[in-house]
Amino acid sequence: MAMGLSGAMSVADCPLCDTAGGVLVWRGAYLRVVAVEDADFPGFCRVIWNDHVAEMSELDAKSRDYLWRILNLVESSMRAELMPDKINLASLGNVVPHLHWHMIPRWRDDRCFPEPIWSSAIVRPLDRESPVWSGRRSAAKALCARLPQLLNSTLTW
Ligand SMILES: [Zn+2]
Repeated sequence: MAMGLSGAMSVADCPLCDTAGGVLVWRGAYLRVVAVEDADFPGFCRVIWNDHVAEMSELDAKSRDYLWRILNLVESSMRAELMPDKINLASLGNVVPHLHWHMIPRWRDDRCFPEPIWSSAIVRPLDRESPVWSGRRSAAKALCARLPQLLNSTLTW
């Protein structure tokens, strides 16, 4: 056991203790937000609990409320900035004992809508170079740049 980046206890050989788990967008004492670099799904983020907690029901009420507020803040920002047709929230975490939520903006013309992004079904080919998709990627970058200030100014423990 060693002190992690946040001061939280980290566990050797755990990929989510050793690395951010994506491009770090914001890091707080309990949680972090990382961007998943996937050209097909701009704006895809993960909200990761820094310590080893596997299930939502292991968190005390205050921690759960804090996590919920962060998810709502990020989701509202995604809706405002990216205007997706839907946002998928998924908590899987079968591989590492770090409670984390995948937050995935979805569009009706993405490559597997309405299937989950992990579905092997590719519903339609995606023209990544189209202005629509490059615009979405730019908006996602701008959103990630704005999130730290938003989270810092809005959040209280
Ligand atoms: Zn870990």
